[in-house]
Amino acid sequence: MRLADYTTIGLGGPARDFVRAGTTPELLEAVRAADASGEPVLILGGGSNLVVADEGFGGTVIQVATRGVHLDHGHGLVTVAAGEDWDAVVARSVAEGLAGLECLSGIPGLAGATPIQNVGAYGQEVSQTIAQVQVFDRTTGEILNIPNEHCGFGYRTSMFRGVGAFVVLSVSFRLAVQTRSAPVRYAELADTLGVSVGDQVESTEVRAAVIELRQRKGMVIDPADPDTRSVGSFFVNPVLDAAALAAVEAAARARCGPQTRVPRFDAGDGRVKVPAAWLIERAGFGKGYHPGDGARISAKHTLALVNSGSASTAGLMALARQIRDGVQDTFGVSLAAEPVLVGVEL
Ligand SMILES: Cc1cc2nc3c(=O)[nH]c(=O)nc-3n(C[C@H](O)[C@H](O)[C@H](O)COP(=O)(O)OP(=O)(O)OC[C@H]3O[C@@H](n4cnc5c(N)ncnc54)[C@H](O)[C@@H]3O)c2cc1C
Repeated sequence: MRLADYTTIGLGGPARDFVRAGTTPELLEAVRAADASGEPVLILGGGSNLVVADEGFGGTVIQVATRGVHLDHGHGLVTVAAGEDWDAVVARSVAEGLAGLECLSGIPGLAGATPIQNVGAYGQEVSQTIAQVQVFDRTTGEILNIPNEHCGFGYRTSMFRGVGAFVVLSVSFRLAVQTRSAPVRYAELADTLGVSVGDQVESTEVRAAVIELRQRKGMVIDPADPDTRSVGSFFVNPVLDAAALAAVEAAARARCGPQTRVPRFDAGDGRVKVPAAWLIERAGFGKGYHPGDGARISAKHTLALVNSGSASTAGLMALARQIRDGVQDTFGVSLAAEPVLVGVEL
């Protein structure tokens, strides 16, 4: 059982044990049994945010395959089993006239993984609509319903990320009962729709526009498009305070000319988010960059690292380190990996 067959980037060695859990009782049983025997556990969703070592995983991989969607349309409440396909959940919410997830169209993976890194795109994050997350707490053995405000959501993070103490069983979303979208927050999306930031249009239109934009960037899984054999964005956009931004601006002017303006988005508390892709390109790593061992930068999006077919995880991580070091040397910014790294480090 090679984990490469279960990850969207097509990398990862064998799992010592592999269990597919088709129901919530099966999922609980599998986790409890592995924990009781002291086996390391890796919960596997759609494998779209996982980089697994070439040596594989020396423990039990538990694949979440639970199904079920419960819709309380009147209250806009949608509760989804962890194993439901995420994009199908978004498509259904849009079709049912429920708004709040439409900008998250086309993101691969399963619903249960969305709270882990507070999945987001085009101005929406699941933290804006999650009402509660039902989890199995592996430390106490309890099943808990954790309300949104206790989930520790932040930019690409939550209390569930990294620690592995919680298994997400289901996620409940509170959506607006309307066919119009939530206000469009992302300038590129507003441009594509021909509207202004803050406008609302039909959610079906937003969904179509988001998918089109994502396809252009190789951000919708397509077996016919080699640029989609990735984990999406490999690096998180760095969030900088005023002093760090000033240092990046000085370095950017020195390298790219006195008129250079570093793009940024407000990140609250006087901080800004700077696109990692911009820094990577200015540090000398353009689209399609390939050091020659099978891992390369996507030809469509600088932030996606791609397995061209012959890559190994070691080669991918070497490329990631080269990029991280290049950005560090050029701008003094330390890029962090977005995917969950299993058995490897950046
Ligand atoms: C082409 C492409 C585009 C992408 N675009 C975006 C984007 O726009 N925005 C974005 O935020 N992400 C994006 N991603 C990343 C990824 O799709 C999301 O993070 C997604 O939510 C991962 O879901 P998954 O089911 O594949 O999780 P996996 O990759 O299987 O797992 C990811 C992590 O979550 C844990 N996990 C999974 N399910 C559970 C569960 N039920 N309980 C506890 N832990 C669990 C795993 O152990 C692992 O640590 C993209 C990825 C790709 C390949």
